Amino acid sequence: MPISLLPKLIFCKLTDITAEFLRQRGIELLMLDFDNTMLPYTSRVPTEELLSWIDEMKREGIWLCVVSNSKKDKAAGFCREHDIVCITHSRKPTGRGIHQCLRQFDVSPSHAALVGDQIFTDVLGANCAGATSILVKPIHLHNIWLKLRHVAEQPFIYLANNRRITK
Ligand SMILES: [Mg+2]
Repeated sequence: MPISLLPKLIFCKLTDITAEFLRQRGIELLMLDFDNTMLPYTSRVPTEELLSWIDEMKREGIWLCVVSNSKKDKAAGFCREHDIVCITHSRKPTGRGIHQCLRQFDVSPSHAALVGDQIFTDVLGANCAGATSILVKPIHLHNIWLKLRHVAEQPFIYLANNRRITK
C-alpha cells in the first residue's frame, strides 16, 4: 500500500461528512479518530451536533468504529454510552487497530474510510491500510505541542489542496 501523507479528502469538521457522500464513494465503514476529531482533549461533553450526526450515520446504515491511539478510558467510556464499537491502543499509523476494525466488521479497505485530525497518524495509517483518508481540522489546539505539530502538517495540507483532491 502507498506510504502517503496526503489526505484523500479534507473536511472542516467531522459532522460535515454525510452518509450520502460516503455511500456515493462505496464507503460502508467509517473509522473515527477520537481526540480532537470527535471531542477536544479538554472536554468529555459531546456537542448536540455530534450526537445528532452519530444518530444520523447509524440511521443511514454507515458503520462507525472509533479507532483511537488513546490509552485513557475517555474514548471507551464515550463509545459505551453511545453504542459505538471502540478500539483503543490502536497504534496508528501502524495497521494494528485499523486492521482489527476491518476484520471485526468484515469490510475491505476499499469500502472503509478513516477520519482524523492528524496527518502523521490518521492520514498515514489510513493510506498505508488502503482505506480512504479523511482529514478534519483539530477541534482545539490547547497546547504548544499540538500547535507545533499542526504547523508541521501544513505543507501536506497545502499539497493536498493544490492537487485538488479535496471534496
Ligand atoms: Mg486526534
